[in-house]
Amino acid sequence: MQASPASHVPLATAREEYLSHQQYCRQCNAHGVPCPAAKHLRRVYNNAARAAASAPSGRSGA
Ligand SMILES: [Zn+2]
Repeated sequence: MQASPASHVPLATAREEYLSHQQYCRQCNAHGVPCPAAKHLRRVYNNAARAAASAPSGRSGA
C-alpha cells in the first residue's frame, strides 16, 4: 500500500482539466494570459507529469 497525497491527480485527468479550462475560461481567452486557476491547473499537470515520469510502473497512459 503506497501513501499517496489526497491531491494526487492522474496525468491524463490533469491534462484534460487544464486544456478544457483554457477552452471555457473567459479570462484566459480574453487576455491570452493564464489566470490563477490556469496556473494552478498547469502546476498540477506538471506535478502529475513529473510523478508519471519518475514512476517505475509499466502503465503508461500515453
Ligand atoms: Zn483561466
